[in-house]
Amino acid sequence: MADIWPIGVFTSIDAGFGVHLEVVSELKIPSIHVHTPHGNMRTEEQAKAFLARCSDAGVTVTCVFCGFEGESYADIETTARTVGLVPESTRQERVLDARKTAEFARYLGCDTLGMHIGFVPEDRNSESYRDLLAVTQALLDELAENGQKMHLETGQETANHLLQFFNDVGRDNLFINFDPANMILYGTGDPIEALKMVGPHVRSVHCKDAVWAPEDQRGKSWGREVALGQGDVNIQKYLETLKEIGYKGPLTIERELSEDRVQQKKDVGQAVELLESTRAEIWGESA
Ligand code: MG
Repeated sequence: MADIWPIGVFTSIDAGFGVHLEVVSELKIPSIHVHTPHGNMRTEEQAKAFLARCSDAGVTVTCVFCGFEGESYADIETTARTVGLVPESTRQERVLDARKTAEFARYLGCDTLGMHIGFVPEDRNSESYRDLLAVTQALLDELAENGQKMHLETGQETANHLLQFFNDVGRDNLFINFDPANMILYGTGDPIEALKMVGPHVRSVHCKDAVWAPEDQRGKSWGREVALGQGDVNIQKYLETLKEIGYKGPLTIERELSEDRVQQKKDVGQAVELLESTRAEIWGESA
């Protein structure tokens, strides 16, 4: 792998929007984030089989993302109601599920768990916020005992609110997976400004692009996810800012086009080219 900014891609085994491992292998991508498979697939045996395929393809797993039954990204309101640890009626069962995903990550030899925690409640004095805090702290303490950490995905709240939540949680194994496109899709703020604000906490990133919803619709209706380089993120500026904040880890491409695998593969291939050429431009021979 390149020492600085090795290329990665968001991958799925049997669940989630990611590309399949065959595509990773064909495009010779050296690292992946992987969406957790369904419950019955999270065995040590399945992990070993997947790891063997990764090893054959020369691929390293750098983050395992949680995903929960009943989540829907149909629209912003449904996402707020169904995603992550925030919905109270499913909070406890999902914490148990996240533990199972952490165990699966350990079978894969991966020390990093990724998560969309959900729309963190605005009111920091509310019971829901305080309970979310306690549940998150307990999960992080358990992960720490196993040498693991958690990266929260950005986008469902503003950078400011996310920072407040971080401070309130107060655990040193909590970090950020920065996704610039999500800031646009959810209408939660300019991605470059947000990246500068949360920079010290960023330990992994998604390279994904999107166009804003019309101004009067932002935060109410989705922006639109598009191929990398064709949206409003400004990938050149994004990578320059990642250099500024001192980030040297993987650039993990995410393309949520699971209903059109042919186009998804094409877009990921083009994203690899864009990232490699921009990396060479920014770092010269040192990458
Ligand atoms: Mg993402």
